[in-house]
Amino acid sequence: MNSNRCAICRALKQICDPNCIYKAYFPSNDTRFEDVQQIFGAAKVADILNRLGSEEERKIAANSLCYAAEARRRDPNSGIYGMVQHHESILNDVEQEIKFAVNELKTNVGPDQVPKFFHVPIPDDFLTTSGKMGDGHRVDDASTSAGPSATLPKNHE
Ligand SMILES: [Zn+2]
Repeated sequence: MNSNRCAICRALKQICDPNCIYKAYFPSNDTRFEDVQQIFGAAKVADILNRLGSEEERKIAANSLCYAAEARRRDPNSGIYGMVQHHESILNDVEQEIKFAVNELKTNVGPDQVPKFFHVPIPDDFLTTSGKMGDGHRVDDASTSAGPSATLPKNHE
């Protein structure tokens, strides 16, 4: 019996060979797979990963399935939609706080003393970096102008 089977092969009660394509995304000790299996089913997850052509696509799909399954466990009614609404609500609150702070600055120091805003390009790999924060990606590199932009306050020099 192979005790090092990946989570999918173990759930499907099949042999997990060294070239198993699921192993990288759902290793044997993966605690996230319990939610994923319960929500989507191991066979469906295996089918999804088999249909994808690249490691990067499988990695994104596996992370998305984990995220959606966790969201469904936390909020069985709304799932991922509830999390989106929750984060949009936080974003709206932050935008209101920024507007309030800018108005307060305009009142206290004068409208011409409030820092101006400018567009900072979002890196091309922003959506493909699998949510790892603090791994060296910076958003302050304004040397490229292509792609979508975000509005951030300009640093005073
Ligand atoms: Zn396997």
